[in-house]
Amino acid sequence: MKKILLLSAILALVLTGCASPKPQDVPDKLTISVSILPQQWFVDQIGGDRVRTQAMVGSGHDPHTYEPSPQQMTNLADSELYFTIGVEFESVWLSRFESANPNLKIVDSAAGIERIPALNASNNAEGTVEEGTNTGTETDPHTWFSPSRMKQMSQTMAEAMQEADPQNADYYQSNLETLLVRIDAVDAEVRNQLEGSKRDHFMVVHPAWGYVAEDYGLHMLAVEIGGNEPAPETLSEIITLAKEYEINTLVVEKGSNVRLAKSITEQAGIQYVVEWDPMAYDWPATMLMIAETLHQALN
Ligand SMILES: [Zn+2]
Repeated sequence: MKKILLLSAILALVLTGCASPKPQDVPDKLTISVSILPQQWFVDQIGGDRVRTQAMVGSGHDPHTYEPSPQQMTNLADSELYFTIGVEFESVWLSRFESANPNLKIVDSAAGIERIPALNASNNAEGTVEEGTNTGTETDPHTWFSPSRMKQMSQTMAEAMQEADPQNADYYQSNLETLLVRIDAVDAEVRNQLEGSKRDHFMVVHPAWGYVAEDYGLHMLAVEIGGNEPAPETLSEIITLAKEYEINTLVVEKGSNVRLAKSITEQAGIQYVVEWDPMAYDWPATMLMIAETLHQALN
């Protein structure tokens, strides 16, 4: 009996000795909820094994119309931090999250970032969103497709995590620094794919790549304006634009209106339809997919 105890004590010593240093014991993880799945990827990079995370809007959900599930509301009750990013469902749900969880600390991860105006009917025709061209106060919510903005958001989120869990501040800081290097590498790869492009206008069904256009000096043409399908006369304008800018690729969100996309590609003579998931978890993979799609679309 004694031998077994000694053996297991040695084994325990060996096992803990081999594990990477953990400043705290495991059950004490910081629990964080975020609005969208790509944002969760960033929090996981910074938090590593010190955090438990959940995203309210998962893959295949539309952040414009989404409603959280009862299970997510239960998980939210365990969260210490909530990171917003400025997507539409927050304007409906955030106050409810707050009143149901008075101890939940809500942090705007997009605080201080520069936003561009949302694409609307008047600036879509120019194929660009320029200063002063938007008639409303609406800004484009799709900020997470901008590497420079994600660097700023990562910093904001890391600070909030350090404040909530100061004992592990150094750990979060070192993960943040690794993450910032990784974001720079993704940005460099996107630039590499776009270098020497023959054209600078691309076309998407849902106007989600406005920040991509802004960051990389391109112009986005969109089919849906303000989340609405185009009226017949608008559709014919879009087809004219597609021909004018020699659009060869139409980017459409998975599970969205494929019939509409097909009708446009047929009428405008567009060769490729690229389906994508704007809510995918793996942010670097999404950015590289965007870069490859644009490489094809612009050459
Ligand atoms: Zn969207």
